[in-house]
Amino acid sequence: PTDLNSLTDEFVRLSFHGLRAKDKSFNADFKLELDPNLPKVNVVASDIGRVILNLVNNAFYAVDEKAKTGIEGYKPEVVISSNKTENGIEISVQDNGSGIPDSLKEKIFQPFFTTKPTGSGTGLGLSLSYDIVKAHGGEFRVESKEEEGTTFLIHLPA
Ligand code: ADP
Ligand code: MG
Repeated sequence: PTDLNSLTDEFVRLSFHGLRAKDKSFNADFKLELDPNLPKVNVVASDIGRVILNLVNNAFYAVDEKAKTGIEGYKPEVVISSNKTENGIEISVQDNGSGIPDSLKEKIFQPFFTTKPTGSGTGLGLSLSYDIVKAHGGEFRVESKEEEGTTFLIHLPA
C-alpha cells in the first residue's frame, strides 16, 4: 500500500529542482492540493512515481515555453491535486500553458510522438504513463483548451 500524497510531493519537487538545475532561468509557481483523507492504494510505487514525474515535467515545460514567449502579465502555474473518489483515488496535474490542439490529442499518446526539439523530449513519457496506469486497472484522461492550458487526470482503483 502506497501513500500517493507523499509520492506526489516527492516527485513534484524532484521535477521542479531538476528543471531548475538544468536551466537557471526556469521558474514556475506550483501548488500541491493533497487530500488529507486520501486512502493508500496498492500500486508499483516506482511506476506511478514515473507517471507523476512525466506529467509534472510536461506541465512545467508547457508553462515555461509559454513564459518564454514573453506574454505580458503571464504567471506560469502548475497545480497538482489528489482526491479520494468513490472507488479509488484521482491525481490531477493542471497547467496554464498553451494547451494541446484537438488535432494532437490522440497522437500525444503514441510512442515517440513529440513536438519538442531534438534532445528535449523522447516522446515516450505519455505512452509509457498510459500503459502503466492501464496496467494498474486505472483510467487516464486529458482535458485541454488552446491558450488556456491542460489538465491530465489519472484514476486508480482502491
Ligand atoms: P515528450 O515530453 O518527450 O515530448 P510525452 O509523451 O511526454 O513526450 O508528450 C508528448 C507530447 O504531448 C509533447 O511533445 C507535447 O506536444 C504534448 N504535451 C504533453 N503534455 C503537455 C502539456 N502539459 N501541455 C501541452 N502539451 C503537452
Ligand atoms: Mg514528457
